[in-house]
Amino acid sequence: MIAQEHTDALTKVLGDKGVVTRHEDMEAYETGARYDRGSAAAVLRPATTAEVSAAVSYCVRNGIALIPQSGNTGLVSGSTPDASGSEVLLSLDRLTRQFALDLDNRSVRVDAGIRLSELNRRLEEQGLFFPIDLGADPRIGGMIATNTGGSRFLKYGDVRRNTLGMKVVLADEDGTVLDLDCDLRKNNTGVDWKQIFIGTSGAFGIITECVLNLERVPKQTATAFLVPASGAHVLPLLNAMEERLGTNLSAFEGMSKNAIAATFAHVPSLKNPFQGGNVPGYVILAEICRTWAPREGEQSLDAVLEEVLAEIWELEEAPLADAFVGPPHEIWALRHALSEGVKHLGKLIAFDLSFRRGDIMAFCDHMKAEMPDKFPGITVCDFGHIGDGGVHFNLVVAKNSPLMTDSSFEQRLREWVFAVAVEQYGGSFSAEHAIGRRNQAFYDFYTPEKLKEMAGGLKTLTSPGKLGSVRFG
Ligand SMILES: Cc1cc2nc3c(=O)[nH]c(=O)nc-3n(C[C@H](O)[C@H](O)[C@H](O)COP(=O)(O)OP(=O)(O)OC[C@H]3O[C@@H](n4cnc5c(N)ncnc54)[C@H](O)[C@@H]3O)c2cc1C
Repeated sequence: MIAQEHTDALTKVLGDKGVVTRHEDMEAYETGARYDRGSAAAVLRPATTAEVSAAVSYCVRNGIALIPQSGNTGLVSGSTPDASGSEVLLSLDRLTRQFALDLDNRSVRVDAGIRLSELNRRLEEQGLFFPIDLGADPRIGGMIATNTGGSRFLKYGDVRRNTLGMKVVLADEDGTVLDLDCDLRKNNTGVDWKQIFIGTSGAFGIITECVLNLERVPKQTATAFLVPASGAHVLPLLNAMEERLGTNLSAFEGMSKNAIAATFAHVPSLKNPFQGGNVPGYVILAEICRTWAPREGEQSLDAVLEEVLAEIWELEEAPLADAFVGPPHEIWALRHALSEGVKHLGKLIAFDLSFRRGDIMAFCDHMKAEMPDKFPGITVCDFGHIGDGGVHFNLVVAKNSPLMTDSSFEQRLREWVFAVAVEQYGGSFSAEHAIGRRNQAFYDFYTPEKLKEMAGGLKTLTSPGKLGSVRFG
């Protein structure tokens, strides 16, 4: 619990709505989307950049540790406090006022607390959207701090590619507001400082405003489930699609049989298109899109997709065994339900890995072959963003498995998975969820000393106060 003198001083700065200290009101902020649950000394809810600055300045001067929180949908224990009860959460949930659209520039300036769904709802009328697509509803500040990837990375890139500028409050005694508020796409006039705040989990400063690149909402979309001839045919299938569709290919998502079957079992209302309901070993969700409305005499996008698939089907050593073209909302419903679906099989231990695209299936096959010997009773329910090399390598322990009572097994499992992914396959141990408390030990282990030293220097330079859940230096 925070001392009364601090509550009083912070209430003077933020008003009554800006300081939460009652246990029952803090609970939702203290509880993460999936695993984590901590205990906060207080929750601060500033409504402007100036209020963030004043609150941060007060906390730094008084040695109070701050954890920035946006939508609290992060999956690596980054946005919640630890169990000590001494950390103060700084929530962005009231920092939502600004919304300034620049149609000619195809960009928007917003406060960092706006939810992704709200941003896209307000842009809909203009036929624009912020093109990061995922199964959660984060706030923009958290998306920048974790550099969210999502399902359409293949076409639009990640948050980094779509962030033009920002305002950041540094955790120093003045609560310095750093104005990196550029709305240019091209600017090479010095160090691009905004980059150090993207994907670094709030360790170097609190993002309070930003300028985002926008894209046109597609007016035509066609989707299909594709069944590759085998795991080894997944990449040839992707290459064949890219060759024929170029940037019209907007998603190429992989889903294992175990992940799909668990999801169908958990959400019976989902449509199962596979013959006799039998789920194939691996399924790809492919999406193509165009930003213009269908023109008279122009082939429909479904027809384009069918024609491309027929061409691939006829290739020598065809990588495609089967295909089901269907309406986008039905096809995506399964993909978006996977995270929840696998959770219900048992205890979920999730890994957010990435590889060179050609190594993804080899890594998954390697692990599936070795898993029964190393960790019997674990089901691999992998799915991911094959088009950008990302894999959500989800492992589920059955509720009645003896592993559930073995307190050391999770650590051994994590060490083994990361060792194979990073050391044998040259992959990343955190593809798009950033570091957080959950990955701290692996950051410490896998990051070269010189890089840690440089990151530590950057931290002292930017935010010497106690900020964020990650220690980079
Ligand atoms: C069902 C589900 C599906 C998901 N799918 C994907 C996916 O496909 N791709 C993907 O990349 N992620 C995915 N995620 C993870 C998560 O949604 C993203 O990491 C998200 O962008 C986090 O944003 P948030 O607003 O919830 O941030 P939070 O969870 O609140 O915070 C995340 C981190 O950023 C820091 N932070 C928050 N706000 C700020 C700020 N303003 N300034 C500085 N630091 C800040 C926090 O301290 C924390 O370390 C998924 C999560 C769920 C629950």
